[in-house]
Amino acid sequence: MNNIGNESSHSLFISDLHLCVSRPTINKAFIHFLQNTAIKAENLFILGDLFEYWAGDDDLSHETHTDIIEAIKNLTDAGTQVFFMHGNRDFLIGTQFSKATNITLLPDPSEINLYGRRILISHGDELCTEDIRYQSFRAQVRSSAWQAEFLAHPLSARKAQIEALRLQSEQEKSHKTAEIMDVNSGAVKALLRQHEYPAIFIHGHTHRPNTHHIEVDGHQCKRIVLGDWYEQSSCLRLDANGFS
Ligand code: MN
Repeated sequence: MNNIGNESSHSLFISDLHLCVSRPTINKAFIHFLQNTAIKAENLFILGDLFEYWAGDDDLSHETHTDIIEAIKNLTDAGTQVFFMHGNRDFLIGTQFSKATNITLLPDPSEINLYGRRILISHGDELCTEDIRYQSFRAQVRSSAWQAEFLAHPLSARKAQIEALRLQSEQEKSHKTAEIMDVNSGAVKALLRQHEYPAIFIHGHTHRPNTHHIEVDGHQCKRIVLGDWYEQSSCLRLDANGFS
């Protein structure tokens, strides 16, 4: 934490990079971001879907992964604290990955305190409550029983199964409306109520970057949606003066 107390003390938030072997440009952009931008930050919060998919921590040694892991490790060694929250694509990131990179895994959702602000952070997929099929799939794959059973298969078999699931999900998505795939406003309000009305709520997942001003039970809340990294590197910065 060598940057604390520095005048330009700030934290960064990113999500939905969807890094994968077939998109080397984004992988390079991420490594460049870690080396040149994130290194100046006190904290980096990765709010899920860093990877297009994660088949298990025994996939750490894949060439694409070793470059990314080394770059994150270099960042944490340099003093930036990196916090990671699971997305719907990379929820199998576990302790081996955390140890290799020295990141801290955060539960979804989590409350954080930065520069005098109480902030709620989440990946966001759990709030898409209108997508009933996805929520039942989510409940299944987030159970420790399912994960233990899945991780017992060889890596190659897991990757094949994930590819099949991705294909199926792409096909299903084409039949889902934009509303179904967005967060549900009732679910957002319930979450904010449960966390005693934090003034700021940051999440990703929907790939619809925006700032929404909402009122819950007379409390004002800003819901900031992070952008994805498909076309550009998208990053939210917070310091004592606010967001940019
Ligand atoms: Mn997602």
